[in-house]
Amino acid sequence: MGICNIENEEEHTLVQGYLQEYPCHTSYGIHPWHVDTVKYASFFPYLEQTRIIGEIGLDNTWCETNLNLQKEVFEKQLAYAHEHHKPVILHLKGMEKEALPFLKKYKNTYLVHWYSCKEYLEEYINLGCYFTVGPSVGIDESVSHLVQKVDIQRLLIESDGISALEWAFETKEVDYISSLQRSIQEISRIKGMESAFVEKQLDQNFIRFIES
Ligand SMILES: [Zn+2]
Repeated sequence: MGICNIENEEEHTLVQGYLQEYPCHTSYGIHPWHVDTVKYASFFPYLEQTRIIGEIGLDNTWCETNLNLQKEVFEKQLAYAHEHHKPVILHLKGMEKEALPFLKKYKNTYLVHWYSCKEYLEEYINLGCYFTVGPSVGIDESVSHLVQKVDIQRLLIESDGISALEWAFETKEVDYISSLQRSIQEISRIKGMESAFVEKQLDQNFIRFIES
């Protein structure tokens, strides 16, 4: 079982069509890439009906949306999630330091997806964050570093979607399931743990996160 992130109305409609055949959890959030096109007021009903908020966050690397606007929309969603005790999935790139004061202000259960920054990791660990290990584990040194540092009880895996897999492996020939199995193998290797144990632990972590 997994979580599918939904960032706008079109994705909502698209995913509703698939849920019967491919059941999964969904999360809703205004992504930092779309703060200029998705308005908080119009997206708010989705935040109200979802159990999990995200991806939300700050990004100064992969997009050019205004950073002040990103912070404003990020904080509104953090405040809402905090108030309503909804766990949050974070998208952070290049803004790992700037995001920390917001997370300290709005205490919650946080999951940082594909954290790939060697700095500030200790602070995120101290906040009790969960981390999804990006498919580039074993290729990208900062992702492998994360696996070494973070307790197995705080790790999850992700694909970040087919296009991200193609980007990570530099090929169009990617198989969704085997790329996730590859991540489990890499985590087992880095942590020196049996893969069956890692798999079971990841399942337990997932349930603990969504039920938090
Ligand atoms: Zn993301």
